[in-house]
Amino acid sequence: MHCGFCLPTCPTYVLWGEEMDSPRGRIVLMDAALRESDVLSEAMVTHWDRCLGCMACVSSCPSGVRYDRLIEATRPQVERNHARPWRDRARRRLLFAAFTHPGRLRPLAPFAAGASKLGVRTLGRRLPDRSLTGAVLRLTPRGGSPFARLPVVTPARGERRGRVGLLQGCVARVFFHRTNVATAEVLAAEGFEVVAPRRPRCCGALFLHTGYEDEALALGREMIAAFEDCDSLVVNAAGCGSSLRDLGHLLADDPQWAERAAAFSAKVHDVSAFLAAVEPRAPRLRSLDLRVAYHDACHLAHAQGVRAEPRALLGSLPGVELVEPPEWEVCCGSAGLYNLLQPEPAAELGRRKARNLAATGADAIAAGNPGCTLQIGTYLEEEGWRTPIVHPIELVHAALAGDAR
Ligand code: SF4
Ligand code: SF4
Repeated sequence: MHCGFCLPTCPTYVLWGEEMDSPRGRIVLMDAALRESDVLSEAMVTHWDRCLGCMACVSSCPSGVRYDRLIEATRPQVERNHARPWRDRARRRLLFAAFTHPGRLRPLAPFAAGASKLGVRTLGRRLPDRSLTGAVLRLTPRGGSPFARLPVVTPARGERRGRVGLLQGCVARVFFHRTNVATAEVLAAEGFEVVAPRRPRCCGALFLHTGYEDEALALGREMIAAFEDCDSLVVNAAGCGSSLRDLGHLLADDPQWAERAAAFSAKVHDVSAFLAAVEPRAPRLRSLDLRVAYHDACHLAHAQGVRAEPRALLGSLPGVELVEPPEWEVCCGSAGLYNLLQPEPAAELGRRKARNLAATGADAIAAGNPGCTLQIGTYLEEEGWRTPIVHPIELVHAALAGDAR
């Protein structure tokens, strides 16, 4: 099918108007690689590498083409069969050695906390968009702490409704601790015992979305074992949730793990979808008096089909008026490690998203993925906007009556 309905939603096609940087073009290249070629060409790999994996094309395809499955199968083939230049290999090794290890990120938290005073982000903005150093400096997170730790068990308030796991994330547990605290406290206020084990250190999503299948599946198996005794696993990071919900499919051919993986994936829920499915118990009484623009994280809206639930959750809070930005379906450019691996298009998309969100005139932006929060916050600041950006669960937490937290 060549209808082209997916083209206006594909961020790289939107940027460059180039057929081979569209879902349709990339599928043609996959087909050519399968049928005609023993060797993956540089050009093929370049066009696949430029794909953000945002899955907007899956949402917009009227024929049900599963581009998500296609690119998920293609990336590991690239890593197995294509020799990347040494600079690219070194850059990838460096990023994965840092980002998927919270223990290595913790010592960087004080540096990040002082980044504004040291002018680190300003320096990053002066470097060209294509520079990896520039991207790392621009995207330096705020709010990290080397000592932030969630309790392994947060008891339920009132009568216990169930036992849920909470994924802390690798980057998120160091730099988005406040989101994890808000998630645990809201779940506990709703009557759930919350279990947040320290290991595994990472769920494997960053590996999976970059094509490092063996590492992703090894961490995936650890995840399954760690949360097997929980009724549900609640996730507050869209990219992690989408990858964990995929484990059932990814391990379907593994006789030892297939059944456990399918059962595990079925109980993984984004926090907004989880809360939408249970009767609210904790009173949300504080009026927030805010106009909130909701940003659809791609791995929530497109990969998991979760669009209505976060809006319903935010809309239910006292004093919250929801506003919708233009181009909701177009990725912000974060996409796992994309904004570091492909910093130039990521910066362009980040600016475009920041302008679209700022144009709503909202008092605050809500986004259900830490990567989007970092990316959008960076480009809002660059564009001169001071609009705060938070996770929807932080607004729910803020609205809880004081004695319910
Ligand atoms: S996943 Fe996103 S970037 Fe990749 S082809 Fe689909 S719409 Fe384009
Ligand atoms: S992927 Fe779907 S929307 Fe895109 S050209 Fe093919 S059939 Fe049309």
